[in-house]
Amino acid sequence: MEIARAALRDLPSVDAVLNSATAAALLERFGRSASTEAIRTVLAETRIALKSRMLPPPTVEQVATLALSRLADGDRTALRPLFNLTGTVLHTNLGRAVLAEVAIEAAVAAMRDPVALEFDLATGRRGERDDHVRDLLCALTGAEDATVVNNNAAAVLLSLNTLAAGREAIVSRGELIEIGGAFRMPDIMSRAGAKLVEVGTTNRTHPKDYKSAINEATGVILKVHTSNYRVLGFTSDVGGAELARISADRNVPLMNDLGSGTIVDLSRYGLKKEPTVREAVAEGADVVTFSGDKLLGGPQAGFIVGKRAIIDAINRNPMKRALRVDKIRLAAIEATLKLYRDPDRLAERLPTLRLLARPRSEIEDQARRLSPAVQQSVGRGFTVTICECESQIGSGALPLDTIPSAGLRITSNTGGIALERLAAALRGLRRPVIGRLEDGAIVLDLRCLTDETEFLSVLNALDSDPSAQFQNGQPSR
Ligand SMILES: *Cc1c(COP(=O)(O)O)cnc(C)c1O
Repeated sequence: MEIARAALRDLPSVDAVLNSATAAALLERFGRSASTEAIRTVLAETRIALKSRMLPPPTVEQVATLALSRLADGDRTALRPLFNLTGTVLHTNLGRAVLAEVAIEAAVAAMRDPVALEFDLATGRRGERDDHVRDLLCALTGAEDATVVNNNAAAVLLSLNTLAAGREAIVSRGELIEIGGAFRMPDIMSRAGAKLVEVGTTNRTHPKDYKSAINEATGVILKVHTSNYRVLGFTSDVGGAELARISADRNVPLMNDLGSGTIVDLSRYGLKKEPTVREAVAEGADVVTFSGDKLLGGPQAGFIVGKRAIIDAINRNPMKRALRVDKIRLAAIEATLKLYRDPDRLAERLPTLRLLARPRSEIEDQARRLSPAVQQSVGRGFTVTICECESQIGSGALPLDTIPSAGLRITSNTGGIALERLAAALRGLRRPVIGRLEDGAIVLDLRCLTDETEFLSVLNALDSDPSAQFQNGQPSR
């Protein structure tokens, strides 16, 4: 008790801590008011700890360090960069595509200064924000005209509203998809003001189903790329080219929602082929919609390409204004699309493609290189082994076609709770490491690991976390 009382008496004052060397850094970074507040809190917590345990009083430097780590923790944004080692390259919950360097530079430059967003530098008159990407999109897809909105859900909503508000939209039952979150085709249709007319059955839809559904009230025939599932077995659907013939015959526009929609033939890079936007346009669709941040590898955006008269009508729709993209993303989109003009160097420059195209052998070498250091960091309570695994493209693209990959499999030598604690510790790192929990192991698929040095330096903190010594403000020694 004597010692405890002495320790309490010797507890440094707020002013003394504020005058310490470490406090200078604290004040510089967080200002006087937040720093003083944090020091007070640390001192109050320490006082409580000293009453119940026999401990020496902390030094001014220790209190200042605790206050600093407290504020730094609170200051960390959850949007900080992380390591996506889930094996899903385009992970919707982790922000999908990471951008190419040129796109990042373009976005940063557009953020910093005014740009000619809706201003024609040649004539000095008002311009249109679509002008920056229209020609590129047309050249890359073969479409007559193009526009861009917030995301593909917006592209679908806007196109349907323009073509079929107060009218009927015909869709195959096999294509009434739900895509993560709250995107369900029937709901989007009703919000677009279109009346859904389902044709065919879940597994089979025939040309005659479409033909007999068309009437004077039909606004659009909608084809949806069933990107996130596949119906197997006794199936048939009506292809884009045949649907285009039916729609042209009856003078009803055909809209094709491609979802991922790639601009290049992915088989060129060793991946399975997805329908390209150019093919959908060439088949005769009047409107094609696709995402900017899926296989295309750009920022979040939704592209609408197609016949000029329809794109004109879409641009006149007042809803367009509510769905438009800002200068930052437009700059990044333009830079990303320009990369597609040189397909030979695309895989080098576009991270999405580069990551998807990495062969297993290369990733396996990386796993072998990293394994000893990772074992060291996680400690003797765990066993790290090199494993083969399967990556996914993600965002609904080619859901059944996985890509051979490799990684590290971490198992606990003491049980599941330790494993979950480790997963939580990995998520709590300065740069969080996100793997996947699978069959009683944490699997780190290394396909998307590009910065090994940073990865190792971040993992180092697992066993040397400075704030761990003073959990809850209680000095442990
Ligand atoms: C992903 C997807 C959408 C939604 O696109 P977002 O860019 O996420 O808004 C719509 N339709 C299909 C077929 C999709 O795959």
